[in-house]
Amino acid sequence: MEKRKEKLIDLLQENFGYDCFRLEQENIINSILDGIDTMAIMPTGGGKSLCYQIPALYLDGVCLVISPLISLMQDQVLGLQQNGIEAAFLNSTQSFEEKLEIERKLVSKEIKILYLAPEAIHAGFIQNLLNKLDVSLIAVDEAHCVSQWGHEFRADYTRLCELRELCPNAPMVALTATADKRTRKDIANQLKFDHYNEYISSFDRPNIKYLIAERTDELKQLHDFIQSFHKEDTGIVYCLSRKKVEKVAEQLRGLGYNAIAYHAGLSSDVRTHHQNLFNQEEKIIVVATVAFGMGIDRPDVRFVAHLDLPKSVENYYQETGRAGRDGNPSNAWMIYGLADVVKNSRMIEMTEAHETYKKFARHKLDFMLSLCESTSCRRKQLLGYFAEKIEDCGNCDNCLDTPELFDATVYAQKFLSTVYHTGEFYGAAYLIDILRGSKNAKVLEKGHDRLSVYGIGKEISKDTWNVVIRQLLTQNFITIKNWEYRNFGLMAKCSPLLKGEEKFYIRKLVNDRFQGVRKKLKSDGTSAHGRDDLFEKLRSLRREISLETNVPPYVIFGDKSLHDMCLFLPKSMDDLLMVYGVGKSKQEKYGEDFLRVIKEYQV
Ligand code: ADP
Ligand code: ZN
Repeated sequence: MEKRKEKLIDLLQENFGYDCFRLEQENIINSILDGIDTMAIMPTGGGKSLCYQIPALYLDGVCLVISPLISLMQDQVLGLQQNGIEAAFLNSTQSFEEKLEIERKLVSKEIKILYLAPEAIHAGFIQNLLNKLDVSLIAVDEAHCVSQWGHEFRADYTRLCELRELCPNAPMVALTATADKRTRKDIANQLKFDHYNEYISSFDRPNIKYLIAERTDELKQLHDFIQSFHKEDTGIVYCLSRKKVEKVAEQLRGLGYNAIAYHAGLSSDVRTHHQNLFNQEEKIIVVATVAFGMGIDRPDVRFVAHLDLPKSVENYYQETGRAGRDGNPSNAWMIYGLADVVKNSRMIEMTEAHETYKKFARHKLDFMLSLCESTSCRRKQLLGYFAEKIEDCGNCDNCLDTPELFDATVYAQKFLSTVYHTGEFYGAAYLIDILRGSKNAKVLEKGHDRLSVYGIGKEISKDTWNVVIRQLLTQNFITIKNWEYRNFGLMAKCSPLLKGEEKFYIRKLVNDRFQGVRKKLKSDGTSAHGRDDLFEKLRSLRREISLETNVPPYVIFGDKSLHDMCLFLPKSMDDLLMVYGVGKSKQEKYGEDFLRVIKEYQV
């Protein structure tokens, strides 16, 4: 066992340039090497790929990897080749000659890892090929696609158990970042796992800071956020609609950002082009609908911003999870407001779906909203949703700067009375007009200026009224009666509030929610190495090499490797091997160039 352990660490250092295993990696690898089927649940960025890549190198024979997307396969293969590991994929985009050449290399054992799409295994060519190969291991990536319960079901995945007959001696490992208990059971059943080991790592992404604020001035807030935290970075901005995606991308370009749009309404050429730009460029922002998701392998996305509320915590967690896969500090930033509550509720009510489905959807939305409105640790609540318990994290807006609450009972009463006195016929904007004593034509025409509630809410702004209304809505004191008119109705729950038997507290609305957070973070100082100028030089070198070789910058070296170089200032090729992510192959390929730039910096 000790010998195996040593060999595994050697493989990790030589090929990948890492010192030690993470999370459950070592247990997963040992389970596979013991020949046992294995289920590995790890958060995004946890390092799932190494769990099969290291055994592939350790074992004789070929490791098959089933992966759902061609772009992911290409990235993985390129990454492995950069590390000096022979790998390939077979798919429909290749010519027959190319396929024959790969077959030859597989049979002669030059290739250790073969990536296949799930549908490919039914092709005659592949079946013949598998008969000729000694398959050491089958890895099923994104294994939740096997299950109807997962959120990305793929019919082709359900036939993967046929691989069992084609490769009877190979253990199988199923890997995914998202699978609840029911989904995990289903995966095991579908893949015909008999006796198997299951390893579940924490879902926590400690390097992601969660920041959520109320929407006041969308574009200004986004611009301020990027200027404060991400001037030099790459990020994703999610919006609900295609139209908004286009608009925001244009606005960001107007502000001087390198921003591109991505949504399902663009032609497939444009989408591919934008996806490639996103993979290749430094400091790029993609403004996208949720269509931009699977297939993003870029590990150095420094921020994910939501301009609209996702429909559930699952969605929020998955989307924000695209930040910081490399483990470096990253931000998940979101703004929300009354309009989101209305829009999302409307979408649920307007679907043709079954009432049970709607009930679930409402419940999920409620949880998402309570996460937004809450004044306690965001991470604690997020993980709590996935049944994981943690202490306050110290790395979310609420931990860094606990928001103040204020007693809004009187305002709630005033609003509820206004709804009552106007017969539950009106929506937010008009009711606020009455409360603030507006002289607009509609108010006068309806005679609402003669109501006892007219003008009794002048002391707070429209924005604050919106906050009061939103919270009344999310706490189910009021409801939207008709989706066309968006008029509010009173719920039975209001009665104690109106009678003054109950208090109503809300978060204090502040103009700049993150002022306190920014101050706190500023005092933490700059980068750990304090050599930002060298970092920029190394980054330019990486970009030059990327343009020359057509290898994405992050495949050449991750930011973490560049940070390490700034910190340790390696002087020799041997020193370089100590740097995070520098294995033998990358040392040989790029070592001289990077050492030269580091040397020049020091004179
Ligand atoms: P995912 O679980 O999302 O598939 P990846 O396999 O892409 O994650 O790994 C995320 C990043 O972490 C990659 O850059 C990978 O090289 C790196 N990584 C994986 N394992 C380790 C480790 N033991 N030490 C350091 N970095 C690691
Ligand atoms: Zn926290």
